[in-house]
Amino acid sequence: MFASLQDNLRTALKSLRGKGKLTDANMRDGLRMVEEAMIEADVAYPVVQDFMARVSEEAMGQKVLKSLNPDQQLVGVVHEQLIQLLGPVDPSLHLEKDVTVLMMCGLQGAGKTTTCGKLARLIGTEGKKALLVAADLQRPAAVQQLHVVGESVGAKVYSEENASDPIAVCQNAVKFARENGINVVILDTAGRLAIDEELMEQLKTIDRKIGPDQCFLVVDGMTGQDAVNSAKAFNDALELDGVIMTKLDGDARGGALLSVKHVTGVPIKFIGISEHMDGLEPFYADRMAGRILGMGDVLSMVEMAQREFDQDEAMKAQKALEAGSFTLDDFKRQLEQIMRPGLMKKMLGMMPGFGDMANMLQNTDHEKDMRRLRGIIDSMTREERRTPKVITPTRRQRIAAGSGTSPQEVNELLKQFDAMSSMMKGASPSELIGKMQRGDL
Ligand code: GDP
Repeated sequence: MFASLQDNLRTALKSLRGKGKLTDANMRDGLRMVEEAMIEADVAYPVVQDFMARVSEEAMGQKVLKSLNPDQQLVGVVHEQLIQLLGPVDPSLHLEKDVTVLMMCGLQGAGKTTTCGKLARLIGTEGKKALLVAADLQRPAAVQQLHVVGESVGAKVYSEENASDPIAVCQNAVKFARENGINVVILDTAGRLAIDEELMEQLKTIDRKIGPDQCFLVVDGMTGQDAVNSAKAFNDALELDGVIMTKLDGDARGGALLSVKHVTGVPIKFIGISEHMDGLEPFYADRMAGRILGMGDVLSMVEMAQREFDQDEAMKAQKALEAGSFTLDDFKRQLEQIMRPGLMKKMLGMMPGFGDMANMLQNTDHEKDMRRLRGIIDSMTREERRTPKVITPTRRQRIAAGSGTSPQEVNELLKQFDAMSSMMKGASPSELIGKMQRGDL
């Protein structure tokens, strides 16, 4: 995410490293580089100016702080100002009512239909039922696409055959939800390739007649300043409650994300980080600021781990560890979860200082590693898998031959198994997080 912005900011802040103290001259150089990084990331110019004025004022004001190095001092200031720029935020969907109506709007291709599905999935994980409403009668395939999305996340889809009035569809859908005990109605409204009068009129009428509880704009984070301009136009017409910015997993430069709150006054609620249905993250200004500065985002990583890993499996493994009955079969299942393609890279990208390693991992063949480890475990007897202590050097030779590996590789795996068993024995989730934060894991 935002690789070039991260690199440029890091270079700017590093330029002050080793300078004994902050002087007007070296501070000016550092600040100029920060400004260039923002401009290159396509941040709207008034936002850059305002941001730099705040950063300069803060940084100059703190000059007397002698205990910090100049680069650390400036990182602190930039971090704080990024949080101010991106927030305040509130990722809650406020689903307190019996039936909450969420209206989704955005230009065609921004990711609206996909995001409707992602939200329905998220709402489902909170134990509530969502109804997806096909109110985009403009794009011929939109209704069908919503059905596919709904099916993939297990959410009901409301559509009317040969419908021509989106307002009537929305009204009927809300009625249907009330009659069928559905808690959240998500209106997938029509988009256009560009903003036009007719679209805005249609959206305003839906807004007036249905009175949605929340109105969210979906914008494509890859489109830079255009995203901000369309957000401004939609907000003028509709009074948005929040922005959901999609496609931040691609090579978005970051400008749209950094500008949108400042320019429109509308908070960012969620970000889209993949085209898959689980690719939606609540937005937190402090975590994002940390990520942009390469300071890591341990909290998001822990949340992702909780989301991605099969919690039942994790509980079983934890119980087995506590009871001292953790076997190599359990170990294999844990490895299979962790070594899913792409997962390690995503998680490492959130860890402090691990951004570069995440990029390196792109070239690592996890599938091959996994096949090798699985091969070793599969070449063991049941007894060996349950009680690895019985594995003598002769048995190790046999396992290596059976799996096409070397005895050293078998040994390596057994060592990893031992380390995992003893490290995790009896550790509660909070202790594990503590270990992670101390860098013990
Ligand atoms: P709509 O016209 O606004 O309803 O847009 P769609 O939901 O059809 O999305 C347009 C394209 O963007 C599709 O190919 C989606 O898979 C893709 N897309 C949507 N959100 C994301 C995201 O967060 N990341 C990525 N990589 N692709 C996305």
